[in-house]
Amino acid sequence: GRLVNGLSLRTYVLKNKLKLKTIIVAAPVNIIVGSHVWVEHPELAWVDGEVFKISAEEVHVHTTNGQTVITNISKVFPKDTEAPPGGVDDMTKLSYLHEPGVLHNLAARYELNEIYTYTGNILIAINPFQRLPHLYDTHMMEQYKGAQFGELSPHVFAIADVAYRAMINEGKSNSILVSGESGAGKTETTKMLMRYLAYLGGRSGVEGRTVEQQVLESNPVLEAFGNAKTVRNNNSSRFGKFVELQFDKNGRISGAAVRTYLLERSRVCQISDPERNYHCFYLLCAAPPEVREKFKLGDPKSFHYLNQSNCYALDGVDDTEEYLATRRAMDIVGISEEEQDAIFRVVAAILHLGNIEFAKGEEADSSVIKDEKSRFHLNTTAELLKCDAKSLEDALINRVMVTPEEVITRTLDPVAAVSSRDALAKTVYSRLFDWLVDKINSSIGQDPNSRTIIGVLDIYGFESFKLNSFEQFCINFTNEKLQQHFNQHVFKMEQEEYTKEEINWSYIEFVDNQDVLDLIEKKPGGIIALLDEACMFPKSTHETFAQKLYQTFKSNKRFIKPKLSRTSFTISHYAGEVTYLADLFLDKNKDYVVAEHQVLLTASKCPFVSGLFPPLPEESSKSSKFSSIGSRFKLQLQSLMETLNSTEPHYIRCVKPNNALRPAIFENANIIQQLRCGGVLEAIRISCAGYPTRRTFYEFLHRFGVLAPDVLDGNYDDKVACEKILDKMGLKGYQIGKTKVFLRAGQMAELDARRAEV
Ligand code: ATP
Ligand code: MG
Repeated sequence: GRLVNGLSLRTYVLKNKLKLKTIIVAAPVNIIVGSHVWVEHPELAWVDGEVFKISAEEVHVHTTNGQTVITNISKVFPKDTEAPPGGVDDMTKLSYLHEPGVLHNLAARYELNEIYTYTGNILIAINPFQRLPHLYDTHMMEQYKGAQFGELSPHVFAIADVAYRAMINEGKSNSILVSGESGAGKTETTKMLMRYLAYLGGRSGVEGRTVEQQVLESNPVLEAFGNAKTVRNNNSSRFGKFVELQFDKNGRISGAAVRTYLLERSRVCQISDPERNYHCFYLLCAAPPEVREKFKLGDPKSFHYLNQSNCYALDGVDDTEEYLATRRAMDIVGISEEEQDAIFRVVAAILHLGNIEFAKGEEADSSVIKDEKSRFHLNTTAELLKCDAKSLEDALINRVMVTPEEVITRTLDPVAAVSSRDALAKTVYSRLFDWLVDKINSSIGQDPNSRTIIGVLDIYGFESFKLNSFEQFCINFTNEKLQQHFNQHVFKMEQEEYTKEEINWSYIEFVDNQDVLDLIEKKPGGIIALLDEACMFPKSTHETFAQKLYQTFKSNKRFIKPKLSRTSFTISHYAGEVTYLADLFLDKNKDYVVAEHQVLLTASKCPFVSGLFPPLPEESSKSSKFSSIGSRFKLQLQSLMETLNSTEPHYIRCVKPNNALRPAIFENANIIQQLRCGGVLEAIRISCAGYPTRRTFYEFLHRFGVLAPDVLDGNYDDKVACEKILDKMGLKGYQIGKTKVFLRAGQMAELDARRAEV
């Protein structure tokens, strides 16, 4: 055998035999001197090496990067030295299913530009950060059409194909859930899925605008108004999206519906360097001269809502071309010329609105329009919105208070006037976005006779930043919901495989996150309910809200009060702990349009603008009845979950390999973190709690026949031969199915170690 420290391996193994026994009892894996293993590494996450000494529970390892590591035996994992160098296309084919093995497999594949890998039915997609055109061309689509799952390399098309065929064959709705952190590739993946589904369910040869074309072109429209450059992604979706493709009985796309979630409103008036505002502002500033003149637009640098950041242009993007492309997409979607004109007029109005500045007025706590320049922008805004300039001015600097006793007009100081202005901008923009979504839906049309859908979900992944606010709270709430759905599904699939193979198995426990969901959404008593209560009680502040949370949840295992804070709280999410700053929760949860703004825009002479602000029903117009963003979002999520629960789900986990957004960089620690948050490792854990290694009888005999040559010679039936070998090795707890051997976690490693001794 090989030599370690001048001693032959064999000698070492023998010397350690006694200790080895105890090790097997302590950990399910079989580590011996000479074993190739993975050990944890502070930067690389995992590094491989060879065990050269074992003393009691301590393992000494020479790593391939030249270090010596001493660690507890429970912290090292066996490395499969026979794994194919280019990796395997399905993690379940790995002999040792554990974190380092999974990571190494992904790395080996990524190096060869194999960005897709299965974990059973889950597709892991690692962003290549470079165009791989051949991967998505028509030829590829043809190949995947109707191909047996697993026969071809892993691909988004394969997932879409399975969903489509399951729908056709079983008459059941399907859904594809795409998740991952910002920049991981969710939206690109979603677009590929939709393209492939349009290819399968389209009407080739049909003239004019087809439903599938409209569906595909809704993407660039929504991206122009809902995407922006952030530090994490140059084309980051600032909203969640669920697209429902409806199919008729012939499997043709017959309608579609888009639902969106929580557009980030604050971006309209506040951006930080080097991010950008929504794309539509820049592309409009780069529109042909006659358009710019009409809207009195010029250099984006001259607008306050854009010049808070120094980033204007995007690498490789021509905003003039984007403007034209957006108009073309709008044409196809079915947005008329006049409507398009009105849309961009509103976008321009928002830019001018942002340039209105205020100075102190003569009376205390009042303000006036600052100067001629601001006056010009005020007039232009009014002109573009087709509303009265004086009313606009009043709506910005005054506030009417309605109390049961009287109506009081109060003036606003310049700071308050600026926030009034920004509130108006945000309201108009979000109404515009909602209008676009509604328009897309009505234009594409819904098929009332469709009984099956394929839903595609592209929604923000788990977020944990230095400072987390209400937005992260809602996003992470979403992810808790989806995680629960995911766990239940993975669990069910495992069960089904066991049933199919007719093996006995008892209940496998997995971490259920119902307790976190209760903490957040339980009614009454959950965080959202308490937040609504606080919002309705005029005297609440973020401090009283935080105190209430501390009191209510002081013995909740998922809730932690940080020691030195008076207004922040920590939730122990499935993906880790996140500390939220309660300071802006009340403000951000309140969704109401300032009454003056409402009145102003309802009166617009432009039907498009007044249409964005339909008059409120009588009774609610006077009182400032608040509507809760948190509660509404909770309802939206509930309805989404109901839809998803009525479908057969498929999962795609997108992974961002590095934060530089560059090709060919694979950051281990970063990726491990994402696999944990995305539930990939949890899925693996669930699977490990059962029988993670499955080998067909043939595969098993091929690999382990050498352990019992007599059995191989015995002319037994494959199944019996497998059983005899397992018995001879003294393994317990494994199961023999109809076609496969099911091994417990670690048993494969144990057999391999025995084999090494032969
Ligand atoms: P966000 O949550 O911020 O919206 P996302 O997960 O939707 O992020 P995408 O916008 O889909 O991320 O991807 C980010 C960028 O990564 C794309 O603009 C593109 O440059 C690149 N990219 C993603 N997927 C692919 C792919 N399959 N092939 C080539 N490039 C890709
Ligand atoms: Mg996106």
